[in-house]
Amino acid sequence: MGETQKALVYRKPGDYGLDDVPVPKIVESGDCIGKVTLSTICGSDIHIVHGGMADVRYPIVVGHEFCAEIVETGPEVKRLKVGDKVVTSCVAFCGECWYCKQGLYAHCTTPRYGCFGVYGQEGCQTTYVLMPGADNYAYNIPDGLTEQDVLFTGDILSTGYFGAENADIKINDVVAVVGAGPVGMCCMATTKLWGPSQVIAVDTVQSRLDVCVKEGIADIGLNPLEVNVPEVIREMTGGRGADKTIECVGAKPTFDLALEIVRGGGNMSTIGVFEKPVDLPLDKIWAKNIKLGWGFVPMNKMPELINLIAKGKLNTNFLCTHKAPLNDIMRGYDIFGNKKENCLKWLVTPWEK
Ligand SMILES: [Zn+2]
Ligand SMILES: [Zn+2]
Repeated sequence: MGETQKALVYRKPGDYGLDDVPVPKIVESGDCIGKVTLSTICGSDIHIVHGGMADVRYPIVVGHEFCAEIVETGPEVKRLKVGDKVVTSCVAFCGECWYCKQGLYAHCTTPRYGCFGVYGQEGCQTTYVLMPGADNYAYNIPDGLTEQDVLFTGDILSTGYFGAENADIKINDVVAVVGAGPVGMCCMATTKLWGPSQVIAVDTVQSRLDVCVKEGIADIGLNPLEVNVPEVIREMTGGRGADKTIECVGAKPTFDLALEIVRGGGNMSTIGVFEKPVDLPLDKIWAKNIKLGWGFVPMNKMPELINLIAKGKLNTNFLCTHKAPLNDIMRGYDIFGNKKENCLKWLVTPWEK
């Protein structure tokens, strides 16, 4: 019997909890062991533990957004050293296959790699994590920044940025972001980098819209329960609609709304995680001449995002509404998963009692 550690385990669809699992050991010469210094629950973890995401292997330790201290390195690790404090990509990748050479890291085809806690290695909602080929995707946290400052670059901030990038925003565009959850908020924060004239946040949770406006990531919040969103946006834009819309939920009603509010010839991008197939109104998409961009993040913009944070141009600390030790993580799944207590992100600190 080797040593064990506590971890949040997805046992089977709908069944998850804190279990004892083996402490990982280095397997190949390019591997590192990371001691988790800060992690978090992602919206996709909620989909995973409820069995809503296809192809997730189980049992598996859940979690893919984390910072770590490197505590052991294999003999062929070149860049990282023991003691390094890093933030890691949610996707571990080899850096050598055809997809990795194109920078499409999330499509890495080398079998050991993939998203932590989903279909790759065991995840981070624990204390020690095996990080294969960590030289490729674990970035040193710059001096003067904390784990919390950079934590989201490994997943939701990269995802939000990807959504904005795919919308191809031009200076002075009016951009509507449908869905003001943590990913939507990251998308709004990065949308601002392109210099739009207005960012419109759309969500049915008023408290989240209020956060967007208060934090300056949106100029206005529109609640479909209160106003006719397409009508208000048309009034704001000379009858046309938003130049670009970004859908950050992954459901039919939000997809349709984002399509309804984009102007003719505009762009629509979607980064929401769809749990099931959705009928696409291709007739409307054709008739409006909409360019679509979508998919999950290739994870190739972390260095740029870390740099923007270091320069003070991007700040996501307002998302950190809750923070508790690993032992309390089931409470985190309830509070974050069910959007209680105005929770935006639940941070996990493994080393506090
Ligand atoms: Zn995620
Ligand atoms: Zn690869």
